[in-house]
Amino acid sequence: MSVANGRVLLAMPGPTNIPDRVLQAMMRPAEELASKTIVDLTETLLADLKAVFRTTGETFLYAANGHGGWEAALTNVLSRGDKILVLASGRFAIGWGEMARFMGADVEVLAGSWRAAVDPAAVEERLRQDKDHAIKAVLTVQIDTASGVVNDIRAIRRAIDAAGHPALYMVDGVAALGCMPFDMDGFGVDVAMSASQKGLMTPPGLAFVAANAKALHAHRQATMRTPYWDWTARMDPLLYMKHCGTPPEHLMFGLRAALDMIFAESLDGAWRRHALLAAATQAATSKWAEGQALSFNVVEPSQRAPSVTTILVDGDPTVITDYAREVCGVTLGLAIGDLTGKAFRIAHMGHVNAPMVLGSLSVVEMALQAKGIPHGEGGVAAAIAYLGAHAREVAA
Ligand SMILES: *Cc1c(COP(=O)(O)O)cnc(C)c1O
Repeated sequence: MSVANGRVLLAMPGPTNIPDRVLQAMMRPAEELASKTIVDLTETLLADLKAVFRTTGETFLYAANGHGGWEAALTNVLSRGDKILVLASGRFAIGWGEMARFMGADVEVLAGSWRAAVDPAAVEERLRQDKDHAIKAVLTVQIDTASGVVNDIRAIRRAIDAAGHPALYMVDGVAALGCMPFDMDGFGVDVAMSASQKGLMTPPGLAFVAANAKALHAHRQATMRTPYWDWTARMDPLLYMKHCGTPPEHLMFGLRAALDMIFAESLDGAWRRHALLAAATQAATSKWAEGQALSFNVVEPSQRAPSVTTILVDGDPTVITDYAREVCGVTLGLAIGDLTGKAFRIAHMGHVNAPMVLGSLSVVEMALQAKGIPHGEGGVAAAIAYLGAHAREVAA
C-alpha cells in the first residue's frame, strides 16, 4: 500500500505550489479587456513589480513563460551581430545564450563550473581584454536552478565596473525573485527578468522584464526588436498596446493575490523564510552525505542557493524520486543538463513552510531507508534542530 493520497506536494523547482488564495483569485469570469478593473490591475502589477525587482526603471509583463522573458530581454536591447558574454554556472545562462545565438548574436561563453558560482575576477579579466568594447551585454543568472548555484550579482557588477566596461548587465532572476535579496538598482543591473511560477507562486504563463534608463537607451538602437516583445509599444498609455493584444487576465488576478501575500509577509520576511528552509535542507543533506552515496553538487556552502538544493547520487537518482512520487505523493526534481542521471533536486521555493519542507526531507530519508541507499542517519532530525534553533515568531 502506498501513502501517496492526500495533498500532492511539489518539491521540484518549478512550477511550484500555488496558494489556494491565488487559485481562488483566478476563479472569476473574464472581463471586458480594457475595463477599468483590467486597466487598474495592469497599473498596480507593473508598479508592484518595480517594488519586487527594486527598481525605479520600467517593468513589462508578458503572456509567456521564462523563455519568453529571455527573448523579451534580448530582442529589446540587442542587434544582430552584437557580441555578448554569457557567464556559465550550470544550465540556465547557457540556455539564454543559446537563444541569443539563434537570434543572431555573437555569443561567447565564459567557461564556468557546474559546481561553483561565477568567479567575478574571471569576468573582470575577460572584460579588460575587450579593449574596444565589442561586448555589448553580459548575461548571468542569480540562481542556476539546475546546478543549485547562487551567483553574487553585486560582485559581478563590481567586476564589470573594475574593468571599466560599458556592457549592459542582464540578470535572470527566475529562480531567485521572491526567494532571496535582489536589488536591481542597488546591484547595478540594467535588465532583469523573471517568471510567475517559481518564487512568485503563480501558475506558469507570465514573464516579467525590468529595464533601467541605460537599457531603455540601448533599446532605441536595437534592431532585434519584434512587435510582441517591443518595449516602446508597451510603454504606450493604451492598454491594448501595453499587452500587445488581450491581457492574460486570469494569470494577472492570480499574480495580484500572490504579490499581496508576499507584501503581507514582506519581501524581507520571504527572503528570511527561504534562507531558513534552505539551511534546514542543507543540514539534512550534510547528515545524509556521511553515508558517502549522496553529496552536495555545490562544493562551497556559501554558493548554495536558497531556493533549490541539488544533490549528487552515487547510483540511480530515480530510485529516490520515483519512490517519493509513487509511495509518498511528493514530486522532487530530477537533474537536468550535465547532471542528468547523476542527481536530484529538492526545491524549497515559493509557497513553502516548515511542514512542507520537513515533509519533503522526511520522504527523501524514507526513500534512502526503504531502498537501502547508504546515508548518515538523522538528516531530518538535524533539519528540525536547525529550525528549532533559528525560526522565530515574527515580531508584530
Ligand atoms: C525555470 C527557469 C527558466 C525557464 O523558465 P520557463 O518558464 O520554464 O521557460 C529560466 N531561468 C531559470 C533560472 C529558471 O529557473
